[in-house]
Amino acid sequence: MNKKTVRDLAVKGLRILVRVDFNVPIANGAITDDTRIRAALPTIRYLREQGARVLLASHLGRPKGKPVAEFSLRPVRDHLETLLGERVAWIEQPLEAEAEQVVNSLGEGQVALLENVRFYPGEEKNDTELARAFARLADVYVNDAFGAAHRAHASTEGVAHVIPGVAGFLMERELKVLGAALSAPKRPFTAIIGGAKVSDKIKVIEHLLTKVDRLIIGGGMANTFLLGLGKKIGRSLVEADLAEVAKGLVESAKASGKELLLPVDVMTAPEFKNDASVRIVGVNDIADGEMALDIGPETSRLYAAAIADSRTVLWNGPMGVFEMPAFAAGTNAVARAVAAVRGTTIIGGGDSVAAVEQAGLAKRMSHISTGGGASLEFLEGRKLPGVEALQPLDGGTDDDEDKVTGGQLENA
Ligand code: ADP
Ligand code: MG
Repeated sequence: MNKKTVRDLAVKGLRILVRVDFNVPIANGAITDDTRIRAALPTIRYLREQGARVLLASHLGRPKGKPVAEFSLRPVRDHLETLLGERVAWIEQPLEAEAEQVVNSLGEGQVALLENVRFYPGEEKNDTELARAFARLADVYVNDAFGAAHRAHASTEGVAHVIPGVAGFLMERELKVLGAALSAPKRPFTAIIGGAKVSDKIKVIEHLLTKVDRLIIGGGMANTFLLGLGKKIGRSLVEADLAEVAKGLVESAKASGKELLLPVDVMTAPEFKNDASVRIVGVNDIADGEMALDIGPETSRLYAAAIADSRTVLWNGPMGVFEMPAFAAGTNAVARAVAAVRGTTIIGGGDSVAAVEQAGLAKRMSHISTGGGASLEFLEGRKLPGVEALQPLDGGTDDDEDKVTGGQLENA
């Protein structure tokens, strides 16, 4: 990675603004999954050990520029105190003079948390004044919010133009793992792309086709490919307007000598219900009233075999409606096959991560990405604004920076 990290800084006594991704699910005031909070702990702990004064900032939900009690970070503050075993000072009004007093009174190794940055309309507009206000609270900025790095917001991008910014450990790890997969993968390199819609992931598929040896397609988006190849898909979820694009992807894969795998059989049902009557059918035999809701057993076998000899696997998007047990078999079969791979296995995408966790296999993957949208944009080969704005490593020039895409992280 060609950006400075917290390791490149002497932080003792400095006020460090750390943008984290504490956008956790909360139900009735209780955090239901604290993965994202725990993912930020290495950076927070390191900064405390180095004697920094740590000021944390995050968004939570979509309060649309005004204070909304439901999106307060207070429950996160309480939980963080438990995880750290340490008091975390609370800054309810980051823009009031008191905020500066609280930060300035922090001792070395002490921590404070700002209320939700999206309570301000300037956050998502990347307002310069708001970025300056955040910057006034700190000497240095650390971006550890990989999950928000594809957004150019005041606390993810703007602030790094006011005070120097570097990457935290989580950010560094995400960029290194994803970057290495794109630029120097051990081969065979297999990508598995699934999920609901092909429109979300066309650019990812296009970019990955230039990198991978094999591309496996499943989930709802496979229906659009099947339609493009002239199959009948009944009442399945489909984006008919993209059928031609999907067909084009199949042709370009063939032309470039890449293997592109599509379902040969599917699990169908007449209704979108777990207890509907399920049928296994070949992709040439889907009936008018049926919906394809999972890949079939023969497809699962073919996909597992294709995954088995891979040295790098990148998986984004479930193979079926895995939320319903009746249509989870394909996703689970693929999850088991990926878990058994001897090599690098990377899972990205919120639902894919949930599926792997549901299957109890998360620990057997090499990397579970914390950023859904950010990882997709990275895999499209796009620059992430939250990363671009950070300080280049010494020797890096602006020219180099212009080329910071997945591919350029090779030197990391
Ligand atoms: P991720 O969050 O991993 O990127 P997506 O959000 O793209 O994945 O897609 C996940 C969703 O796709 C799940 O809610 C799943 O139920 C749905 N899905 C998968 N296969 C199908 C299908 N055949 N028909 C309808 N929905 C599907
Ligand atoms: Mg999703």
